[in-house]
Amino acid sequence: MATKETTKEAVGGQATVEQKLRLIYKVQVIDSRLAEVENLKGELPLEVRDLRDEIEGLHKRLEKLNEEKKRLEKELSNEQNKKEELKIKLQRLQEKLKDAQTAKEYNTFEKGIEDLKLDIQLSEKHINELSQEIKTIEEKIKETQEKIQELQKKLEEKEKELESVIAETEKEENFLKELRKKAVEDVIKVDERLYRAYERIRNKYKNRRAVVTFERSACGGCYMWVPPQRQLEVRKRDAIYTCENCGRIFIDEELAHEVEKEFEEILKQFHKEIEHKE
Ligand SMILES: [Zn+2]
Repeated sequence: MATKETTKEAVGGQATVEQKLRLIYKVQVIDSRLAEVENLKGELPLEVRDLRDEIEGLHKRLEKLNEEKKRLEKELSNEQNKKEELKIKLQRLQEKLKDAQTAKEYNTFEKGIEDLKLDIQLSEKHINELSQEIKTIEEKIKETQEKIQELQKKLEEKEKELESVIAETEKEENFLKELRKKAVEDVIKVDERLYRAYERIRNKYKNRRAVVTFERSACGGCYMWVPPQRQLEVRKRDAIYTCENCGRIFIDEELAHEVEKEFEEILKQFHKEIEHKE
C-alpha cells in the first residue's frame, strides 16, 4: 500500500488506526497524570521547608531580643544604684550645709547640692528611658513568641498533610506505573514503531506531550494552524497523522475524550478502593 504523504502511515497488523490511537493515547494520559502527581508533591515540601526556615529565623530574633533585654536590665540596675549613691551624697552634703562655718564653705556646699540634684534628675530621666525601652522589648518578645507558636501550629499541619500526600501519591504512583507498563505492552503488541515514536517525541518536548488534539484548528502541541482537510482526515481515523511542524501525533477530540473518560473511571475506582481499605 503506497502512502500519499510522508506523514501518513499505512495501517499495519490486525489493529485498526482507532485501536492504535486509543492505546497510545492511554499511555499519554497516564504519563500526564504521573506528571501531575509529581507536581502535587512538589509544592508541599517547599512550603514545609520555608516554614521551618521562618521559625528558625524567629528563634534567632527571640534570642537577640532576650539578650538585649538582659543588657538593658543590667544598665537599669546600675543606674538605680547610681541614683541611690547620689541621694546619699546629697543627704550628707545637706547635713554639712547646716554645719557650714564660713560663707565660702556654705556656697561650696550649696553649689555641690545643686549639682547633685541635677545629676539625680538626669539619672531619673535615664531610668525612665531604660524602663520604656525594656517595656518595648518585652512587647516585641511577646509578639515573636506568639508568631512562633502560630507558625509552629501551621508547620505541624503542613507536615501532616505532606505525610499523607506522600503516602497517597506513592500508592497512586505505583498504581499508575503498573497501569503504564500494561498500556505500553498493549501498544507494542500492535505497533512497536508507534510506541518508539511516542517516546522519541515525548522526550523532545518540555510539556512531555506526544499525542495531541486540535485546539481552535491548531496543533495542541505547537499551536501551528492545521488545514481543515487534515483535521477531517484525522477525524476519519483511517491513518495516523503527525503535525508537520512539531511531529506530534494527532488524535481527534472525540476519541481523546473517550480515552480520558475511561482513564478517569479507572482512577476513580482505584481511589475508591484505597479509601475502602483505610
Ligand atoms: Zn504541532
